[in-house]
Amino acid sequence: MSQEKKIHRHYAENIVKIIDKNSILSVYIYMGKNGYDYLMSNKSCSCKSFLFNSVFKNKSYLCYHLKYLENAEEKDEIRTIYLNSNDFLLIIEEIFSTGKSLKLRKELLNGNS
Ligand SMILES: [Zn+2]
Repeated sequence: MSQEKKIHRHYAENIVKIIDKNSILSVYIYMGKNGYDYLMSNKSCSCKSFLFNSVFKNKSYLCYHLKYLENAEEKDEIRTIYLNSNDFLLIIEEIFSTGKSLKLRKELLNGNS
Protein backbone atom coordinates (compact mmCIF):
# COMPACT_ATOMS: atom_id res chain seq x y z
CA MET A 1 0.00 0.00 0.00
CA SER A 2 2.69 2.47 0.99
CA GLN A 3 4.73 1.18 -1.91
CA GLU A 4 1.95 2.12 -4.28
CA LYS A 5 1.69 5.56 -2.75
CA LYS A 6 5.38 6.10 -3.35
CA ILE A 7 5.08 5.26 -7.04
CA HIS A 8 2.20 7.66 -7.54
CA ARG A 9 3.82 10.46 -5.59
CA HIS A 10 3.64 13.65 -7.60
CA TYR A 11 6.82 15.66 -7.92
CA ALA A 12 7.23 19.14 -9.29
CA GLU A 13 8.58 18.76 -12.78
CA ASN A 14 11.39 21.26 -12.91
CA ILE A 15 12.88 21.25 -9.48
CA VAL A 16 15.13 18.90 -7.53
CA LYS A 17 16.84 19.15 -4.19
CA ILE A 18 20.25 17.56 -3.99
CA ILE A 19 21.83 16.70 -0.66
CA ASP A 20 25.41 15.77 0.02
CA LYS A 21 24.86 12.85 2.38
CA ASN A 22 28.33 13.22 3.88
CA SER A 23 28.14 16.88 4.83
CA ILE A 24 24.37 17.58 4.77
CA LEU A 25 24.98 20.50 2.39
CA SER A 26 22.02 20.94 0.10
CA VAL A 27 20.93 23.01 -2.85
CA TYR A 28 17.86 23.26 -5.05
CA ILE A 29 18.23 23.05 -8.79
CA TYR A 30 15.70 24.44 -11.20
CA MET A 31 15.95 22.72 -14.58
CA GLY A 32 14.85 25.29 -17.10
CA LYS A 33 13.01 24.48 -20.31
CA ASN A 34 15.70 26.39 -22.20
CA GLY A 35 18.18 23.73 -21.07
CA TYR A 36 19.81 25.79 -18.35
CA ASP A 37 19.92 24.85 -14.71
CA TYR A 38 19.75 27.35 -11.85
CA LEU A 39 21.12 26.85 -8.38
CA MET A 40 18.86 28.04 -5.61
CA SER A 41 18.45 28.36 -1.90
CA ASN A 42 15.11 29.41 -0.44
CA LYS A 43 16.08 33.04 -0.88
CA SER A 44 18.44 33.20 -3.78
CA CYS A 45 18.77 32.03 -7.34
CA SER A 46 21.59 32.01 -9.87
CA CYS A 47 19.45 33.43 -12.70
CA LYS A 48 20.01 36.85 -14.27
CA SER A 49 16.68 38.18 -13.13
CA PHE A 50 17.57 37.54 -9.49
CA LEU A 51 21.05 38.96 -9.96
CA PHE A 52 19.68 42.15 -11.50
CA ASN A 53 16.73 42.75 -9.18
CA SER A 54 17.98 41.42 -5.88
CA VAL A 55 21.74 41.73 -5.96
CA PHE A 56 22.23 44.90 -8.04
CA LYS A 57 19.16 46.78 -6.84
CA ASN A 58 19.34 45.32 -3.36
CA LYS A 59 15.58 44.73 -3.28
CA SER A 60 13.65 41.84 -1.81
CA TYR A 61 12.79 39.89 -4.90
CA LEU A 62 11.43 36.53 -5.94
CA CYS A 63 12.22 35.45 -9.49
CA TYR A 64 10.04 32.97 -11.36
CA HIS A 65 12.18 30.08 -10.09
CA LEU A 66 11.92 31.07 -6.44
CA LYS A 67 8.16 31.43 -6.74
CA TYR A 68 8.03 27.98 -8.30
CA LEU A 69 10.19 26.62 -5.46
CA GLU A 70 7.97 28.22 -2.83
CA ASN A 71 4.89 26.70 -4.41
CA ALA A 72 6.45 23.24 -4.76
CA GLU A 73 7.57 23.32 -1.14
CA GLU A 74 4.10 24.24 0.05
CA LYS A 75 2.68 21.27 -1.80
CA ASP A 76 5.54 19.04 -0.64
CA GLU A 77 6.40 18.12 -4.21
CA ILE A 78 10.14 18.43 -4.22
CA ARG A 79 12.08 15.42 -5.28
CA THR A 80 15.22 14.90 -3.22
CA ILE A 81 18.37 13.12 -4.29
CA TYR A 82 21.10 12.03 -1.91
CA LEU A 83 24.61 12.01 -3.34
CA ASN A 84 28.17 11.44 -2.24
CA SER A 85 30.33 14.56 -2.02
CA ASN A 86 32.05 14.01 -5.39
CA ASP A 87 28.79 13.70 -7.30
CA PHE A 88 27.27 16.64 -5.43
CA LEU A 89 30.20 18.87 -6.39
CA LEU A 90 30.28 17.52 -9.94
CA ILE A 91 26.69 18.61 -10.50
CA ILE A 92 27.41 22.12 -9.23
CA GLU A 93 30.58 22.35 -11.31
CA GLU A 94 28.74 21.24 -14.44
CA ILE A 95 26.12 23.91 -13.93
CA PHE A 96 28.78 26.59 -13.48
CA SER A 97 30.85 25.53 -16.45
CA THR A 98 28.24 24.46 -19.03
CA GLY A 99 24.96 25.84 -17.66
CA LYS A 100 23.44 22.42 -17.10
CA SER A 101 24.22 19.16 -15.39
CA LEU A 102 24.21 15.90 -17.30
CA LYS A 103 25.14 14.08 -14.11
CA LEU A 104 21.93 15.32 -12.48
CA ARG A 105 19.88 14.05 -15.42
CA LYS A 106 21.56 10.66 -15.15
CA GLU A 107 20.78 10.46 -11.45
CA LEU A 108 17.15 11.32 -12.15
CA LEU A 109 16.92 8.62 -14.81
CA ASN A 110 18.45 6.10 -12.43
CA GLY A 111 15.63 6.86 -10.04
CA ASN A 112 17.98 7.83 -7.24
CA SER A 113 15.70 9.51 -4.74
ZN1 LIG B 1 15.72 32.61 -10.74
